[in-house]
Amino acid sequence: MTKFDVVVEGAGPAGATAAYYLAKQGKSVALVDRAKFPREKACGGGLCVHIEEFDHIVDNWDDFLESKCKRGIVYGPDGLAVDYTQETPFFYNIRRFTFDNKLVEYAVDAGATLMEGIAVKDFRVTPDKVVTELRDGSTLESEVIIGAGGSFDLVARRIRADEGLPMKWRDEDIATALYLEIEVGREYMDHVYGPERISMAHIKFQGLDGYGWSFSKDTVLNVGIGCPRSTIRRAKKDNPEWDERQYLLDYVATLKEQGWFPRDLEVTREMLAGSNIPVGMGLQPSAGDRMLVVGDAGGFVSPLSGEGLYYALDSGRLAAETLEGLFEHGDFSKAVLMGYHRAWRNKWGDDLEWLKVAWHLLMFMPSSLIRYAALDEETKMFFTHMFVGSMPAYQIKNKVLALIAEGVLKQDVLPFLKQSKVPLPEVQSPAA
Ligand SMILES: Cc1cc2nc3c(=O)[nH]c(=O)nc-3n(C[C@H](O)[C@H](O)[C@H](O)COP(=O)(O)OP(=O)(O)OC[C@H]3O[C@@H](n4cnc5c(N)ncnc54)[C@H](O)[C@@H]3O)c2cc1C
Repeated sequence: MTKFDVVVEGAGPAGATAAYYLAKQGKSVALVDRAKFPREKACGGGLCVHIEEFDHIVDNWDDFLESKCKRGIVYGPDGLAVDYTQETPFFYNIRRFTFDNKLVEYAVDAGATLMEGIAVKDFRVTPDKVVTELRDGSTLESEVIIGAGGSFDLVARRIRADEGLPMKWRDEDIATALYLEIEVGREYMDHVYGPERISMAHIKFQGLDGYGWSFSKDTVLNVGIGCPRSTIRRAKKDNPEWDERQYLLDYVATLKEQGWFPRDLEVTREMLAGSNIPVGMGLQPSAGDRMLVVGDAGGFVSPLSGEGLYYALDSGRLAAETLEGLFEHGDFSKAVLMGYHRAWRNKWGDDLEWLKVAWHLLMFMPSSLIRYAALDEETKMFFTHMFVGSMPAYQIKNKVLALIAEGVLKQDVLPFLKQSKVPLPEVQSPAA
């Protein structure tokens, strides 16, 4: 049995970041992943600007940064769009194959021990240690285990069982997202998506709750769709022929029609991949005796956009910071580890809740919200920043609600009373 201070199950962005900060503190860390790195991970690869909080990201941009987005276009179901540009980037683009591999490298360089290609099979918590069993039959001993295995994580399931919680996320709290990445060349990208590397979303594509996106990397387009599982179940019930792969292929066809995707590039079902995104505003609680969960394992994802990378890194860092002082006294009880739970709740717990409200609003009245935002520069800015997560939602919630109220008054109530119409802006179309 090999001994470590901490075992981290899963070496995605959350696990690798926890391991990086723990190793920097001088702790011995086993970073265990069932995959061998570099590995692919279904993702849009969009990073919100809060990622600048991490020195090891900012210091190493050249290792993985694909593009900086300075323009966002969000289409509503009726074709009207919010088209917002600013001089500074409000969204960064990476590709997970490279990004995740680099995060693992940084953790290893800081001193973590990587065990790749081996899954964690099970673990046992005793009063004085955690014993983790790996698929190859070997065992690891540690003071604490961090669950970073994604949306159906082993440690999260143990916390759920201990707390008597449902063993899975509710259907409305988990989204299914499919994507593809395709090389389109720099000439196409510069011509259509421009040097400002437009990020685009289509809200409620074909009327279903959720959205489609097209994110422009350096020379690669990342296109995908995401819907709550409850929406997918309903779509399948209404039409047994419906399937999410065809839904994404239909989205690609729409992008081709609108000029956002090269018409001569064929996309087949085999090119599509997908995964789950937990959008349930965080697992309550996210810690137990000698265990805690980070990233998707804890359900730390924006319910509005499905963006989880920033929360993955930040929860990994907060977990490491919470553990830092605990080794001296050796108390890793749930009562003490709840300090981690409070740390993320205080930092962005309210945000996740407000982004859920924003999601419901956007799904309930997408065309109206896009119209209110499209006609006013200030509202455009708030709308775009809230969507991409670059402004804390809880800090701007009152502003957003006030702007919506203004939109209702100026664009719906007054024109109705005066029997007049508000002129709508032209929908932007890409270069031919
Ligand atoms: C299609 C799609 C598009 C997305 N787009 C974006 C986006 O543009 N921007 C954004 O911020 N977020 C996006 N997300 C969300 C983002 O991908 C996740 O929030 C992020 O990957 C969470 O990181 P993580 O480290 O918690 O989990 P993961 O990245 O899922 O990593 C978990 C790791 O754990 C390993 N693992 C699992 N079980 C075990 C086990 N038993 N033993 C050992 N290892 C194990 C896995 O192999 C994996 O490497 C998207 C998600 C999807 C599905």
